[in-house]
Amino acid sequence: MDKDKFVTAVKIISRKYYTKERKASPFEILVHGILSTRTKDTTTFPAQKRLLSIADTPEKIVKLPTKEIEKLIYPVGFFRVKAKLLKRACNLLITKFDSKVPSNKSDLMQIPGVGEKVASLVLEWGFNLPYIAVDTHVNRISQRLGIVPEGTKPAKTEAVLESILSPNLRISTNYSFVRFGREVCRPVSPQCGICPVYKYCGFKLKSKYAKRMLEMK
Ligand code: SF4
Repeated sequence: MDKDKFVTAVKIISRKYYTKERKASPFEILVHGILSTRTKDTTTFPAQKRLLSIADTPEKIVKLPTKEIEKLIYPVGFFRVKAKLLKRACNLLITKFDSKVPSNKSDLMQIPGVGEKVASLVLEWGFNLPYIAVDTHVNRISQRLGIVPEGTKPAKTEAVLESILSPNLRISTNYSFVRFGREVCRPVSPQCGICPVYKYCGFKLKSKYAKRMLEMK
């Protein structure tokens, strides 16, 4: 796919699906990121809400018994491991970062449970910095649009997107792609028939999916 077409598609998706009125703090995004690994959003968000309604600071989470954290975040994947990671992450925030979530990647990646994707997510969503968290939605849509080949690993996709997109577009990419990926470019049965970037998309099955939508009307 040519880069200009891809940038045009990203601009259209951002205009339609990005909103600046997000209210989550960097700490909430960090908790979300740690819980979200290998877990669907529909499980992660309620679990995060249950936990943060009881303990919304590193100090409060550290004071909770691990068993209680496990109960609050169940059924996220690996909930026992993640309960321990959360406590260790909060401990480190208190002892090393004055209870604040750091706003740079190298510090973030010292925190237990935080890898490239979660660090980028915190920087992008929590601090509005030009990073792109390549989760399953961002990777799938990038592949379907055709800017990276099928089967590309997230780290490679991230490098390609960062080399092409302006800082302003990077800030909105994860958020807008996640919404677009839930509503239109779904993992199964993408809604190609109503897709605002249909003409820029390189997905070879797009006309089949568009036709299927017409037939179902
Ligand atoms: S045309 Fe289909 S596959 Fe391509 S971006 Fe739109 S919904 Fe996704």
